Amino acid sequence: MKKFDAKSLARPNIRSLRAYEAKEMPCRVKLDANESPFGFKVRQSVIKRISTNRYPDPEARALRGALAKQLEVKPPNILVGNGSDEIIYYLITTFGGPVLFPVPTFSMYGIIGKALGESIIGLPLDGSFDLDLPLMLGALKTARPKLTFLSSPNNPTGNCFSSDRMLKVIESSSALVVVDEAYQPFSSDKGFLPMLKDYKNLLILRTLSKVGLAGLRTGYLIGDEAIINEVNKVRLPFNLNSYSQAIAVSAIEDRKAMRSAIKAVVSERERLFEALEGIKAATPYPSEANFILFKVKNSRRVYNKLLKQGVLLRDMSGAVDGCLRVTVGTKAENNFFLKALKEVAR
Ligand code: PMP
Repeated sequence: MKKFDAKSLARPNIRSLRAYEAKEMPCRVKLDANESPFGFKVRQSVIKRISTNRYPDPEARALRGALAKQLEVKPPNILVGNGSDEIIYYLITTFGGPVLFPVPTFSMYGIIGKALGESIIGLPLDGSFDLDLPLMLGALKTARPKLTFLSSPNNPTGNCFSSDRMLKVIESSSALVVVDEAYQPFSSDKGFLPMLKDYKNLLILRTLSKVGLAGLRTGYLIGDEAIINEVNKVRLPFNLNSYSQAIAVSAIEDRKAMRSAIKAVVSERERLFEALEGIKAATPYPSEANFILFKVKNSRRVYNKLLKQGVLLRDMSGAVDGCLRVTVGTKAENNFFLKALKEVAR
């Protein structure tokens, strides 16, 4: 066989990409990935019913039924994915670009857009991390994006965008607007689900990853049936495995456990925010999510020193100058982090 270079075989848009880095680093307190500190207790009876020799239900009927009931929509309005990441992939595969989003935001909109060879447009947020409406409206008019992604609450800034600005974007788009509500369960805002009936071009993206089920890889898209049908054409037949489907159903039905875990995270977030405000060297930004972005002097040094003490955060300085992002953990984890931060950030 002739010698070849794998990189040069890859399509040009792939060659210049870098793989998504989700670092697995040994640490005592893991507060880097916006996971819930509380897991879901899986009942043996749920596992016992699964046949490993059979493919999963390709249409995830029980799961879509449980979600539909909870969200008060119909199953044909829901598409499930192997995490909401996969659904972002499907959306861009189905509708193409240009893909528009504000920055900083969740990096996968841009990474997937580029991987699929589409043009991407990242527009800076304003000084309060809100949508820069004139900029967004200008781009909607001139670039006519097929897809606009609005993460609200936004990762990594933590705030919700103002709903009147979001509505203006939805109204002014001649194509689809995806409101990514991965962190909506932690927010005091109602979210955009009630708007679905008024705006046919609106889609809502949610996930179970932030509410204690990241290991299941289960995300879902809610929207107009005709749009869901188009996306469903590119969905791989058995994209959600039997375990994820079955465990997700039982977790959704156990509303009480999920609600109380969310409540505990929100109350810890408030405590963590106040404590960060009390640390002179740190400036936290208000959050409606399960994480807090904060500014420190010499963020890279602080990040490394925290890691040495066993605390893993996410260094966001590439996206927001001098900022680190901490996921809300258990009370003990948060205390451990706060104590370490007080020592290292002076
Ligand atoms: N959207 C946003 C805004 C996120 O922050 C994340 C996870 N970091 C996702 C989507 C993807 O979540 P998952 O694939 O785990 O459902």
